[in-house]
Amino acid sequence: MKPMDKLAIYDTTLRDGNQGIGIGLSLSDKLLIAEKLSDFGVQYIEGGWPNPTNEIDQAFYIQIKKRKIKSKIAAFGSTRRPGVSLAEDTFLKLLVETGAPVATIFGKSWDLHVEQVIRCSFSENLDMIAESVAYLKKHMDEVVYDAEHFFDGYKHNPEYAMKTVQAAQDAGADVIVLCDTNGGTLPGEFRRIFHEVRAQLKAPLGVHVHNDAGCAVANSILAVEEGAVQIQGTINGIGERCGNADLVTIIPSLQLKLGRKLVTEQNLAKLSELSFFVSEVANISPNIRAPYVGAAAFSHKAGAHVDGVRKVRESFEHIPPEQVGNSRRFVLSDQSGGGTIIEKLKGIKPDLDKTDPLVKKLLAKIKKMESEGYHFEAADGTFQLIAQTMLGEFERPFEVLGFRVIEDKTADGTPISEATIKVREGNVVEHTAADGDGPINALDAALRKALVKLYPSLAKVKLEDYKVRVLDGKEGTGAKVRVLIESSDGKHRWGTIGVSTNIIEASWLALIDALMYKLMLERLKK
Ligand SMILES: [Zn+2]
Repeated sequence: MKPMDKLAIYDTTLRDGNQGIGIGLSLSDKLLIAEKLSDFGVQYIEGGWPNPTNEIDQAFYIQIKKRKIKSKIAAFGSTRRPGVSLAEDTFLKLLVETGAPVATIFGKSWDLHVEQVIRCSFSENLDMIAESVAYLKKHMDEVVYDAEHFFDGYKHNPEYAMKTVQAAQDAGADVIVLCDTNGGTLPGEFRRIFHEVRAQLKAPLGVHVHNDAGCAVANSILAVEEGAVQIQGTINGIGERCGNADLVTIIPSLQLKLGRKLVTEQNLAKLSELSFFVSEVANISPNIRAPYVGAAAFSHKAGAHVDGVRKVRESFEHIPPEQVGNSRRFVLSDQSGGGTIIEKLKGIKPDLDKTDPLVKKLLAKIKKMESEGYHFEAADGTFQLIAQTMLGEFERPFEVLGFRVIEDKTADGTPISEATIKVREGNVVEHTAADGDGPINALDAALRKALVKLYPSLAKVKLEDYKVRVLDGKEGTGAKVRVLIESSDGKHRWGTIGVSTNIIEASWLALIDALMYKLMLERLKK
């Protein structure tokens, strides 16, 4: 087998990605994504920008140490500010205090920014870069220097732009990352500049490219062809303005077409799942036309295309879809794949026989649920419950006989919610009521009150996150909604899902699964 490539993937989904319009990752979202990225095999994960105004990012670096992460964690910041001595600059110290092995700092390469934005002398800017890199290098394992606006700086004043990266190199930066921060450079010019800089520097180079001219992926790939050793980007290309270079397109392009081995083949086959997972956690609609992983990427609609692919796969497909965990769909004949489901089932039952009638029945059920709006990529808890139950490994120990929610207002107009539920375990029927902030909170409280009496370990289950997505906006208030719940018991984390035209019912289904899953975990262990 080919050894891993020296080329490193540096993911900044949690920092630059989180700066994208419509994205706002919580601490728990960030930790979940970091674990997924680590399992997938990216070499670096930039967690965020630790500073006193950013509590989530500060907390991220504390919490991430408690998780099993194989990727190197990087803390992001900038060079010291102008007019402030290194000793006075608290932001650089905060990077060291994260305990992360890698510091990534950006500094100014463009004379226009030095003169008109941060307003200091050219020589002070060079001092800021050199002093900051040297300081971090003394206290941390690795320093990545992001040369902000490098391409624009080089176009306007190549001598000064070169001086800035030379200052970082001389101060000991491990990698110098040339950034196209405004994302407006076209591939020909990008390649020429990268090539020229490469000839003048000894330090290894990386790139960080934004997508404002639609060239972020192309430019990143060109940089690799020109000798870059680090590619920065985000999952699904989320990020400032038009986004960052999309790692979901870059990774398979480099690995399958340029022969650069970045992750194992098995992990590359989880790329579609990773992409979908990040969309779900970030609560954005997946792009069906995304290269490699989009639902349309291997969907064949025109009759001639369908006929061609059936005869010779390569006739209308640039790679086999399984290599990136996607599947072929024939839109006209409606024969969707289900490859990822088979893969997931193999995790439960390694000797899975696809011809087993039980497996066929299970596949049909999953497909039907997917057509109704269920998606299991971020709701493995619900998927496991269905599969383990249908395969006869688990029996649901309780049954919910019914629930009722009453919405009312007090005399002063404060809304109040009260829920009553009936749960049966064998011959025991629990009937409980609870109040809550809103109907879903009241249902959650009532359900727990009833079940904790029967199963005390459920007291440990915490609801970490709750997300609602409207599936078909055209139907207005009659639209279907999908509710995703993330739960944990301090040791495991799991996602569950409910779909309904009634938001309370969708939440209810996901809530029941969240608690049922914990019971299944315990019973399967025995
Ligand atoms: Zn950026």
